[in-house]
Order: sequence, then structure tokens, then C-alpha cells
Amino acid sequence: MNDIWNPWHGCNKYSEGCKYCYMYYLDSQRDKKGSDIYKVKTNFNLPVRKTRSGEYKIPSGSELRVCMTSDFFLEEADSWRNDVWKMIKERQDVTFWLQTKRADRVKANLPDDWGSGYNNIKLTFTAENQKRADERIPILLDIPVKYKAVMCAPMIGKITLDKYLKTGQIKLVLVDGENYDGDRPLYYDWVKLLYDECSKYNVDFDFIGTGNFFIKDNKTYRVVKAYQRVMALKSGLQLPNIGTTTIKVQPKCKQCPRRHSCNGCRWCGKCGG
Ligand code: SF4
Repeated sequence: MNDIWNPWHGCNKYSEGCKYCYMYYLDSQRDKKGSDIYKVKTNFNLPVRKTRSGEYKIPSGSELRVCMTSDFFLEEADSWRNDVWKMIKERQDVTFWLQTKRADRVKANLPDDWGSGYNNIKLTFTAENQKRADERIPILLDIPVKYKAVMCAPMIGKITLDKYLKTGQIKLVLVDGENYDGDRPLYYDWVKLLYDECSKYNVDFDFIGTGNFFIKDNKTYRVVKAYQRVMALKSGLQLPNIGTTTIKVQPKCKQCPRRHSCNGCRWCGKCGG
């Protein structure tokens, strides 16, 4: 993933996974309120912005993660979303990751010309526990989308996705623990179960991070943010397997100015290290 596009900011807490929402936490550090929802005017047209020579500033082939400080299908954003759909349609050469917990709002808020789905959309439904997975994923399976993913983050309970993965529709499962001011632990056994299920159905699996508290073999590990990704990679629970032997803890994370907002490091280079 290359970059983030937040056409609006702020959100209303929606389900138990929102309890320690990182956007609320980061806003509180700046004396702001995460519940203040507003259109980000300075960034709203990011995908279609051009240079003086007429080139798009976001290069062809990029992937943009959309609404990382909100929810793409947030009700308060209904009047802004049509303009966003138009920009997404204009940039067929860019992939847009859309993420939501508001599964029941998706169908009614797709563009009129959606058809069998825009080719440049990857739609991710978030499910923090089995209850939310069973509510939301059947809706995801019923929507025409070319690329479907499930994000179990923050994973706060054991989840099995077997019956959903066997449909062959889900291309990727992601798992992360709870970070920032969250204290609900992630269990290795939960991650391993999903990894095994993805392995069985040949679905990609990304163990993004351990979260603050990671429990393995009855031992609780307190993991600082900069190393949550490192520990997840060291577990080897990745599909396709990206290998674990060459991963080293890099001290640059400690100085990285992005360490409070990045999803953990694949040594993306943006920290300047
Ligand atoms: S839906 Fe996402 S952005 Fe909105 S409150 Fe919940 S965790 Fe935060």
C-alpha cells in the first residue's frame, strides 16, 4: 500500500471494536474530538490533483487506503461520497482500499453505475469478533465486488471464517491486535486458527501486528507499537509466506515520526531510515 486518502475525518463509535479507536486517541492527543466529523477540504480531491504540467500527482499504479480516520460508509458523509465515487472512477489506474464496519449501508450507497463492481476497488469489511463477522460477512458475500477482504482488527475474540472462506470470494484476511490506548489482548491461538483456515482455502493472510498485549502459551507479552509488526512477521503467520529469517528489529522505528500512525513497518522507507 502506498498512501492514505482521508476525504473526511471523524466518526461515531459503532460497535465494540471502536472502544479504543485509534483515531479518537490520536485526536485527543491534539485536543480534538474524534466525534467531530468534517470534510477534509485540503485533501478531498487528492486522487485527481494535477501538477503544473498536467500529470496526476498520485502516480498510476498507486494504491490508496481510503478513510483511515473514519468509515467510508459513514452516514454523515453521504453528501460527500458521490464526488469521491466520481474521482475513483476517473482514476481507474489507481487501486482504492475501502474499509467499513457499516456493512448494512454499503449496498444502498454504491454508485448507480456500479454494475458488477469497479475494477479498482478492494472492499474490506472489519469484524472484531464472531458476532460481528456473522453479521457483516454474509452481506459482503452478497455484494458484487471484484476484490473482497476481511479485517479482524482489533481482534478481541476468537473468530472462525471457515464457512465464508470456502465460498472462494474472500481474497485476503488481515489480523491486528489493539494498540494505542487499547488493552484487550490478542491470542496467538486465534491468529493461528485464521491462518490455518486461510491456508486451507488458499486465501492470503496478513498478520499485521500483535497489538499491545499478545498472549502465547499462557504468557502475556507487552509489545511497544514499533515492534508489533516485527513480532507479527516473526511469527511466520503470513500467506503467501514472506519468510521470517531475514527480519531484523531495526532501531529506526524508535525515531520514526510516523511511528504513532503507521500500521507497523515493512521498512517502507517513509521514516527516512
Ligand atoms: S468505525 Fe472505525 S473510525 Fe469509526 S469509531 Fe469505529 S474504529 Fe473508529
